[in-house]
Formats: sequence, C-alpha cells, structure tokens
Amino acid sequence: MDFHSFLIDEINNEISKKIEYIYSKYKFKYTLEYYIQNNKIDSLVLYEEPKKIKTHKKHKIAENRCEARVWGNGNVAKNGNNYIYGCQCKRSKVHSKYCNIHNKTLPHGNFFESVPHDHFEKYLRKLQCNNNI
Ligand SMILES: [Zn+2]
Repeated sequence: MDFHSFLIDEINNEISKKIEYIYSKYKFKYTLEYYIQNNKIDSLVLYEEPKKIKTHKKHKIAENRCEARVWGNGNVAKNGNNYIYGCQCKRSKVHSKYCNIHNKTLPHGNFFESVPHDHFEKYLRKLQCNNNI
C-alpha cells in the first residue's frame, strides 16, 4: 500500500469516530452503520504548490566589461609565468570600472590587479570561465 492509501484509511477511521460521536449526540433517521458506510472517502484531492521553474540567467559578456574579479569556482590558470585568479565579471560597467554589484562590494578585487586575499592558492586548475584573454 502506498502512502495515500494509508492516509485514506486513517482519515476513514477518524471519520468513523466522528460519526459515532455525532450519532451519539444527536438523533438521525438511519442507523450508525449507514452513516459510516456512506461517508467514507476513497481518494484525496491534493493541492500542490506550483513548482517554480528555475531559470538560469546567462550573462552576455559585456563590451564595456566590469573589471571585478569573480570567484569562478576558484579558478586558477597559468598564463605564461603569471597566474590568472578567478574570472572577470561579465556584466557591464556602470558609472565606474565596475558593474552595479561590484560598485557595492569587491571581495576578490580588480581582475587586472593583484588578489586581495590568498583564497585562490589552494586551487590550481584549468581556467573554465570564458575570459576571452
Ligand atoms: Zn561586476
């Protein structure tokens, strides 16, 4: 038996108890068994929350590109004798070198300057982001 069958059985048991209670309290035309037999449920109508479809926004790489460094899954790539840490943000600059998000916060610094922390040091893997550099 599946979950809903158990649930329907339990609900029917509870309905029977309620009918017995009501029947003992008030007077009715037919027998107790009649009301129990005629007030059973055999299915449930379940109301599910509509599932929200997650849409993954893809950012087009802006021409006027924000200069912030983003984490990019901790990407570290070797570029000649230098290392490239993270990825460059793909959004457009807004009134400065950075996009609206990176105007507010710049946790990984400017992509063209040195990294302000050493969190990338434990990652040395192939650069997976599309930096076009
Ligand atoms: Zn940005």
